[in-house]
Amino acid sequence: MKKQIIYVLTALALLTGCSSNGQKTAPATQNFKYTVEQFADLQILRYRVPGFEDLSLQQKELVYYLTEAALWGRDMFYDQNGKYNLTISRALEAIYTSYQGDRASEDFKALELYLKRVWFSSGIHHHYGSEKFVPGFSEDFFRKALLGVDTKYLPLAEGQTPEQLCDAICPVMFNPDILKMRTNQADGEDLVLTSAVNFYEGLTQTEAEDFYTKMKDPKDETPVSYGLNSKLVKKDGKIYEDIYKVGGLYSPAIEKIVYWLQKAETVAETPEQKAVIAKLIEYYQTGDLKTFDDYAILWVQDLNSRVDFTNGFTETYDDPLGMKGTWEAIVNFKDMEATHRTETISSNAQWFEDHSPVDKQFKKENVKGVSAKVITASILSGALYPATAIGINLPNSNWVRAQHGSKSVTIGNITDAYNKAAHGNGFNEEFVYSQAELDLIDKYADYTDELHTDLHECLGHASGKLLPGVDPDGLKAYSSPLEEGRADLFALYYLADPKLVELGLTPDADAYKSEYYTYLMNGLMTQLVRIEPGKNIEEAHMRNRSFVSHWVYEHGKSNNVVELTKKEGKTYVKINDYQQLRDLFGQLLAEVQRIKSTDDYEGARRLIEDYGVKVDPTLHAEVLERYKKLNLAPYKGFVNPKYELVKDASGKVVDVKVTYEESYVEQMLRYSKDYRTL
Ligand code: ZN
Repeated sequence: MKKQIIYVLTALALLTGCSSNGQKTAPATQNFKYTVEQFADLQILRYRVPGFEDLSLQQKELVYYLTEAALWGRDMFYDQNGKYNLTISRALEAIYTSYQGDRASEDFKALELYLKRVWFSSGIHHHYGSEKFVPGFSEDFFRKALLGVDTKYLPLAEGQTPEQLCDAICPVMFNPDILKMRTNQADGEDLVLTSAVNFYEGLTQTEAEDFYTKMKDPKDETPVSYGLNSKLVKKDGKIYEDIYKVGGLYSPAIEKIVYWLQKAETVAETPEQKAVIAKLIEYYQTGDLKTFDDYAILWVQDLNSRVDFTNGFTETYDDPLGMKGTWEAIVNFKDMEATHRTETISSNAQWFEDHSPVDKQFKKENVKGVSAKVITASILSGALYPATAIGINLPNSNWVRAQHGSKSVTIGNITDAYNKAAHGNGFNEEFVYSQAELDLIDKYADYTDELHTDLHECLGHASGKLLPGVDPDGLKAYSSPLEEGRADLFALYYLADPKLVELGLTPDADAYKSEYYTYLMNGLMTQLVRIEPGKNIEEAHMRNRSFVSHWVYEHGKSNNVVELTKKEGKTYVKINDYQQLRDLFGQLLAEVQRIKSTDDYEGARRLIEDYGVKVDPTLHAEVLERYKKLNLAPYKGFVNPKYELVKDASGKVVDVKVTYEESYVEQMLRYSKDYRTL
């Protein structure tokens, strides 16, 4: 199980990402600008770090040192993504910062766009699709511009001329047939030879696989993560691992990380946390994967520290063979308020179970809610920057997870930034029926979006029971959308319950209406923006939202509970009776629970096939057309805040200041200059 990355098309797409919990939104800061800029298929956002000011000085210092340790790893990620990435990005930066020609010309603007994309991907391949993107300027323009740069700014290798530099990188940049994919997953090809990632050199997929097969002992119940922290090289007929460690590959970057980790160690909050940091330093110094597992175990067990972090070669999905860890780092601290909210929900789990509209025989006598930890990110780096996950679940080693557990967290301030940035992007203005619904959403959506997710995760999935002897896998392909529907319906039903106001979870008795409206708008219409024309709905969460929405729509028709109505030729969702809608959610919840508890395969099939799969082609075409006009970027990334130590006259640290002013370009140029190691 790994971190879940959700690429957000709209705020609504976030409604029920299954590994995602929301966060209690800090009071909206009027002047905070969540959007930074947009280019290509990317939008750059900014996130706040609410609660940082309330940390103790020691905790702030700890965050600061860990943040530095995070930023110093940057160059490793570029180099892992492809061996030419650092050289290409530095050549582009040199031109960008010193170009004396016409900076308003089409060629220069295309170079700027390309550089921004290279920064976003930490390389020349798309961060998500993995395909190489092609410059919108000519090779001729690039050569002339590069040769015009003062050589002291150019990333020249020992003895290399600027012409030779061009000859080395131009084919990589401009020839679409060279290094086409960062990570090639196409069945039947040599994935090592055809992938641009810099994890293997001079050898074939078979040679790489054989190398590791020989290393592994099938009887070992606690195997290390073979190959995680090295590049596999074949030289002079010999195959060996070049290990990422102090004194090994990437030593200059790792030495800097170790330096800042050592500072962090001096201000650790607890002995347990100090031990975690010390073990990570030992791992970076030795490159020993057994030490890495020891570190992971200490990290999983450190539950009482407010500040937490990961820093290392972590996720393996950029390696076509799934072994090499891509470097990433995040520093965070526990969001007390949001975590308190999920604890409130969980501690009342039995009340919710007892009062649900589900038949008594399908209820749990003893239900245990799940309480999720919500964290506030303070820095993102490596594979988590600028595009990031909204939830992280580590470590990845199966036996460490089984024997010692794992930490699963939701990054609340990132989710919050996605939601806030979606305000005013024109999406709701285009698809919401009238000002009344827009006002509801404006007033309540920040509370109810997150609460919906919390109820779904902490209670919905945990509720209900199967009758004795029922096969838990009997619903087969329908099991997943049905289960997601069950969790959603539990959440929707209770969002309107007075108990939530009583528990202080919703501000008043109208708040749920915002969620009811956006849920149905999404399920009946706007989620179709993610479906290609002519296709059915396939993905489980989308089928769930579709069947829930269409079922209540159809069953409320005789009382006109929900309408699809036209205004100036455009279709809108209109809810006429919110209380009856709640009753319908309750009825459907009871039915879905019955299907699950009794393993009624035919019931599940009908529900999902009749209401969840098919798309009305006319409405679909209309929605796609309206969405396209909004010109929204499908992929998002973030600029980080900037942290500075505040010292008194004697040089003693008295505070850490966080600021949010930096632009995307300023931040990238600063990182490139200040954190250069390789
Ligand atoms: Zn779920």
